[in-house]
Amino acid sequence: MISSSFSISRRRLLAKGAALAATPLVLGTRSGPAFAAGPMLGAWQQKFFRFKLGAFELTTISDAAAFIDGPYPIVGMNASEKEVRQLMRDNLLPEQKYQPGFSPLVVNTGRELVLFDTGNGANGFVPRPNGGWLAGQLSPSGFKADEIDVVVLSHGHPDHVGGLIENGMPLFPNARYVISAVEYDYWAPEGKHAGDLEKLAAVFRASTQQIAGKFRFIKSGADVVPGIRAVEAHGHTPGHLAFMIESGGKQILFWGDCAHHHVASLARPEWHCLFDIDREQGAATRKRIYDMAATNRLPIIGYHMPFPSIGYVERLDTRGYRWLPLSYQLNL
Ligand SMILES: [Zn+2]
Repeated sequence: MISSSFSISRRRLLAKGAALAATPLVLGTRSGPAFAAGPMLGAWQQKFFRFKLGAFELTTISDAAAFIDGPYPIVGMNASEKEVRQLMRDNLLPEQKYQPGFSPLVVNTGRELVLFDTGNGANGFVPRPNGGWLAGQLSPSGFKADEIDVVVLSHGHPDHVGGLIENGMPLFPNARYVISAVEYDYWAPEGKHAGDLEKLAAVFRASTQQIAGKFRFIKSGADVVPGIRAVEAHGHTPGHLAFMIESGGKQILFWGDCAHHHVASLARPEWHCLFDIDREQGAATRKRIYDMAATNRLPIIGYHMPFPSIGYVERLDTRGYRWLPLSYQLNL
């Protein structure tokens, strides 16, 4: 009893002593270097992500991380704002702001470096400093601009072609360029468009004039290089292409702009996208591509999906589809 009570009181004493001892230390954190508060480091997020696909190495690079107004009416312009906001609320997302990815892709085939899309550059959809990061991110990601052998453009919008030119010069001096023939003929000619379309065409012309002689014009079904084949995905723009990338029996689809919001576009592929030039065709293409991706359990690189912009498509029993971000599937 005595010993026990002594024991307790000693424990109490020790606890009390420890608390007393701790007090001046806590109070002393401002002056004692051993207890100095860590400096705030600022938020940080990865800007490149690399993985293997068969014998290929693929790297997605973040070109922008801006918040923009939406997803309504960028996605769901033929729905009601209330419906789109409700879908965001149901998915624990902000209702009126979203942060799309802008994710160019470098494929190292072992023989060549193939870049898919070039980000916003100085004149794209997301201005610097919040976008146009590709040129600055090549080196941290392990690449040099003059090592890029092929630049493939999914389509001609400013957030995909804006990074072709830096400081008035082509950023990729040794590259050859690949684009859909239909797409090039839509954007390149002078005087074809007016209004907003002409603004987009002007960015396309400014971005491609100096490299016009280096283009190879393709259509869906064509091989870009061995293991990379163009897939028809028209509607967002007249010549918009996706690309099937295959090595060692493994496939991944780079789908360009087949989705502009990882929840809304997939849940309601029939919802029109403001940026689609043919909105009905865009909706039909989304359904076809999502259906193929879900049926074939195909990994996807989605340019505007949240970085690192890689995932899978699940067909829901109720309605529409769902984006499942990559976890460890491609590490096997
Ligand atoms: Zn885009």
